Amino acid sequence: MIEIASCPLCDAPATGTRCSCGYDFTTGDPGLAIEARKTRFLSARRRLRRGFVILATLPITVAIAQAAPSVLLLLRAVWLTQLFASAYFIVGGLRTYVVARRELAAATQLQQLPSARVVR
Ligand SMILES: [Zn+2]
Repeated sequence: MIEIASCPLCDAPATGTRCSCGYDFTTGDPGLAIEARKTRFLSARRRLRRGFVILATLPITVAIAQAAPSVLLLLRAVWLTQLFASAYFIVGGLRTYVVARRELAAATQLQQLPSARVVR
């Protein structure tokens, strides 16, 4: 049994056997915390990718506007939607991605260096 005052991953006070982030206080196993962080990281990456895919469709609608100027008004609404949707996914995804990547790296490092978690 390892005596620690707070979670080495999220700094929450060490009460009970498991932290809300998944870190196991009794065994010092960050396995569940790593899984949770991996899920969050992959979700952020998907969101980011979605934003870039929407952005990549912009030249297609621009090409349609050049071929058929009669639908320009409708396409302006489509462009606005494409721009806002891609900005929404890219900005939100990037923010989550950066944090989730850092948290995942910290949890993975804790698993690789088990002696580092011991607090006296
Ligand atoms: Zn924690």
